Amino acid sequence: MLDLRRKIVIGITAVFLIFCIGRMAYFHAYKTTAVEKENTEVKVEENQEAEKEEEEEEKEEDASKAAEEEAKEEVDISKISEKIDAPKHLQAFYSKEGAVISWKKVKGADGYLLYRKGKDGELKQLAQTEAVTYTDETVKEKTAYRYRVCAIVKAGEEIVSGEMTKGISYFHTEIDPDKPMVALTFDDGPSIYTKKLFKVLKKYNVRVTFFVVGERVSTYAETIKQAGKLGCEIGSHSYSHANLGTASSATINRELNHTEKRVKKALGYYTPVMRPPYGSISDKLRKKVGKPMILWSIDTLDWKTRNTASTVKAIMSHVEDGDIVLMHDLYSQSIDAAIKVIPKLMKKGYQIVTVSEMAQYKGKKLENGKAYTDMKK
Ligand SMILES: [Zn+2]
Repeated sequence: MLDLRRKIVIGITAVFLIFCIGRMAYFHAYKTTAVEKENTEVKVEENQEAEKEEEEEEKEEDASKAAEEEAKEEVDISKISEKIDAPKHLQAFYSKEGAVISWKKVKGADGYLLYRKGKDGELKQLAQTEAVTYTDETVKEKTAYRYRVCAIVKAGEEIVSGEMTKGISYFHTEIDPDKPMVALTFDDGPSIYTKKLFKVLKKYNVRVTFFVVGERVSTYAETIKQAGKLGCEIGSHSYSHANLGTASSATINRELNHTEKRVKKALGYYTPVMRPPYGSISDKLRKKVGKPMILWSIDTLDWKTRNTASTVKAIMSHVEDGDIVLMHDLYSQSIDAAIKVIPKLMKKGYQIVTVSEMAQYKGKKLENGKAYTDMKK
């Protein structure tokens, strides 16, 4: 009996022990998997974070690279200007093959790099050439372009230095140099009326010149941008409509530079031409202005009459090939006059172009610091 009881006790104990060991083993196994699982999850998260960080780092790297490259471009301009001159008289003409870009030979240059600024604002290299002319056959009709030419000095195959010019803008459309031309110019704006003109410019595929007052540029940045896209020319008319002919050098610098900064911000490039307020010019201004000064040959007196009909008449009764017409886009009557006068001029056979375009097609080389009242031959 005793033996049997002992056996039963031992048996139960054994079963209990086996059960306990089994459970312990199970828990241990479960715990391990759970921990492992946790570990993998953490690892996955870590990986994702690492990937994200890497991506961000890459992005940052890209941004810094772009900034570096931009800086390089800037640095090149200033560093190299001492070694080599910038190409001058950069011009773009219409031809059946495309836009013909030409410039003056640079002393000491081994060649030139020609760039075109794309819609994204990036400079794309079009050609490396030893010639001083290039035909861009990829231009589209009724489209504005920006070109830059860089003179280069080579050491073997490597370019050791170059200088960017200010570049030029060009609107690709057919202009016949042998047919009459006229430049309509608008001062003192932009204003709320300026945009009203754009529809007509588009309709007739014509371009005008705006001499903008610097302090108005930020408010009407969008207007200026649109004008640029239509192929219009944006010139400087000082910052605060100051009389620069009687101003000190410091005032001249301030009035010009502030305007340039604002136009560059709105448009992406500096003004190619300048019109001194009141047509007032001094020797100081001639030296400081750094661009051609554009006066006028037809004064509509639109600011005085504020009358559409008399403004139209002032133009139509005097207009000749090569005229530069003075108006002001501050007044709705002046804009209305322009809207009426554009088809009238075209009917008479006039091509309506910007000031710089007219100079190009008339073969007039505009010089910095000089004043021009017209482009008549
Ligand atoms: Zn003015």
